[in-house]
Formats: sequence, structure tokens, C-alpha cells
Amino acid sequence: MLNDIRDELLRLRAQHLYRTRCVLESAQGTEVRVGGETLLSFCSNDYLGLANDARVIAALRDGADRHGAGSGASHLVTGHSVAHHALEEELAAFVGAERALLFSTGYMANLGVVSALLDRHGTVFEDKLNHASLIDAARLSGATVQRYAHGGMTRLEALLGASEGAGLILTDGVFSMDGDVANVARLAALAKQHGAWLLVDDAHGLGVLGAHGRGTLEHFGLQPQAPLILLGTLGKAFGTFGAFIAGDADLIDYLVQRARTYIYTTALPPAVAEATRASLCIVAEEGWRREALNARIAQFRSGAVQLGLKLLDSPTPIQPLILGEAQAALAASEALRARGILVAAIRPPTVPAGSARLRITFSALHTHAQVERLLEALAALPAENVKPA
Ligand SMILES: *Cc1c(COP(=O)(O)O)cnc(C)c1O
Repeated sequence: MLNDIRDELLRLRAQHLYRTRCVLESAQGTEVRVGGETLLSFCSNDYLGLANDARVIAALRDGADRHGAGSGASHLVTGHSVAHHALEEELAAFVGAERALLFSTGYMANLGVVSALLDRHGTVFEDKLNHASLIDAARLSGATVQRYAHGGMTRLEALLGASEGAGLILTDGVFSMDGDVANVARLAALAKQHGAWLLVDDAHGLGVLGAHGRGTLEHFGLQPQAPLILLGTLGKAFGTFGAFIAGDADLIDYLVQRARTYIYTTALPPAVAEATRASLCIVAEEGWRREALNARIAQFRSGAVQLGLKLLDSPTPIQPLILGEAQAALAASEALRARGILVAAIRPPTVPAGSARLRITFSALHTHAQVERLLEALAALPAENVKPA
């Protein structure tokens, strides 16, 4: 038994797919401490710089003073506190939904919703670049899974036309490894036309896209109402932890009855809900964070084009440089690290084989000078490190 897994570990190492963890000795931020060294970080999902915001931390501390450290039970027993309840109402108002329901993580929310809406008689339609949690959610539900090529609307339309029974389209709002935005307007129209649900996982759009930070739906002028269901996560732009589903009141009521990952798990700590309420106020009120973020993204993109780097069509803080083989991405990440810059190499199976990459991400708190430092470091790398062979 152990021999088999040792062989597998050796194989992963030989293929440059072995993963290690970088141990952070500081709070999240544009500069982090790792191994006693201060590094300029371009690889967190803390897009608005709220994970270490003093007001969010104070709300967490006050929340712990008032509600204790843990919730002590699931939501349906005695774990649902006034803090959770208020956050759900505030999130629903923010995204323009009738109701919202908190889940402990985005991963669990995806598993819970898909299994609640479909059984083995239904069909899930997914974009091939969807997040792993959407892929696992479809598998767990037992429904038939139809995957379409990234952004392949014509293929999706054909698949929808040929299927019978309950249907659910799953998509990332902003694709987590490519940074491009799903054509949610088209997806919503197709869902309506074919009587299917559409779940938009907006882990990377919420807080970032739209004039008010309401995410990918705001970007397209859409509301989270049937057939549309919105999933937002709170561990990324919101800087805290947790996730929620937003949609029609009856849908939420049904999920409370049927979503197993909602029912059979401990509610997240109420203090975390208080921290998220504070960060929601900041997300809504401090539009300068989105403006600063967009300025840094534009600065990076124009600098990268001048360096002859190949960018993807991404208007978001996720700006990958695709390098091909896992070894190439690792080498580029190590070369940047030697210059004091932290950018994670993303390898298969997180991304398709042959598309290993540096996943560069930006925060509203990055300065102009820090982005220049990144560009200078990329410019100084040997060409074979930053350009696909
Ligand atoms: C991060 C992420 C999730 C998972 O959210 P957690 O709250 O971290 O479990 C789900 N979907 C997408 C697209 C993500 O990027």
C-alpha cells in the first residue's frame, strides 16, 4: 500500500508535478514573509487588499468577543447566529437577490446546490475550464455530464437542444486560471430558452467587476433570479472566508431543506460573518479599490506587451503567462523568486496539460512601483523562461 503511494510520489516529482506549500510567516499582503525573506507577492486572491484590513480585523475581534470562537452547531440546529442572518440579508441586498444563503466554503456550496437541483435523471452542462469544485459537484450529483469547449456557445446550444429532463449549466463567471469573463448574457439567454438553470460561480468576479463590485452579473446588467443562480465566495476579494448562494426566495428555501453540504456541517464562526459584514461595507463604499486595481492591471498589460509577452484576453486581476510544460513554469517561478518576487507556477491537473503557467494576480494595494518591479524582473528573465518554446 505505502509502496504504491511512494511510487506515485516519485512519479509526480519526475514529471515536475510534485506540489509543495509555501509557509507564510506574515499576514496576506502585497509583501509577505517566507523563510525569513520579504517577497513581493503577485499570487493571492485578495484582490481588494481586505484580508489584512484593520477594520475587518477589528470586526472579527469584536465578533469573537460577542459570539465566541466557534458556532457550535450546524445552521439548522443552533449554529445560525444573528451575525450569519444579518450577513445573508446584506449580501442579498448587495447583489440584488431576494435571498442569500451562507455556506462554509465555495467548494461546499457548489457540491450542495448541484446535488440539490439534479439527480441522475438530470444533465449538467459545463465549460471545460470550470473550477474543480464545479466538476466535482456535477460528478457527485450523479447527473449526466456534458462538457463543452471553453466558451463554446454553439456546441452548448446543440447539447441543450438534444437533452431531455432537468438541465443545469455551470460556469465560472471569471475563469480562475485564465482570467477571462464568461459570456453570461448568452448563457442566461440559452438557459431561458431551454428551460435550464444557470449557476454562475463568481468567486473571482465578485467585488471586482461591475461599477459597484457586484461582479460578473452586474458587468452584464443581469440579476440573480431564475433561471440564474449566483455563487459568491468570501475568501477572495472579500478577504475573509465562506461563500453564499443568492437567488429566488423559493430556491434558497429549497436549499435549506435539501443541500446536504449546508445541512450536515458546522456553521462558520459567527465572528467570521461579522468580519465579512465589515468587508462588505468596504467593498460597497470604497470604489477607489476597483479603480486602483484596474489601473495596475492596465499598467501590467501595456508593460507586458512592450516586453513581447503573450497575454490572454483577460480584463481581470488574473493575468496568466502561459509557458507550456510544468518544468518551464517552475523555472520561471524560481527565477522570479530569486529576484524577491513570489508568483506561483500553476501546473496540470489544475490547468490542461501543456498550458502550465505563471498565474500573476493583482491587488488594489499594489503600487505603481511594485508593478514596475515585476515588469523589470520579467524583462530580466532569460527568454526561454518567459516565452513558450
Ligand atoms: C476558490 C474557488 C472556489 C472555492 O471557494 P472556497 O470558498 O475557497 O472553497 C470555487 N469556485 C471557484 C471558481 C474558485 O476560484
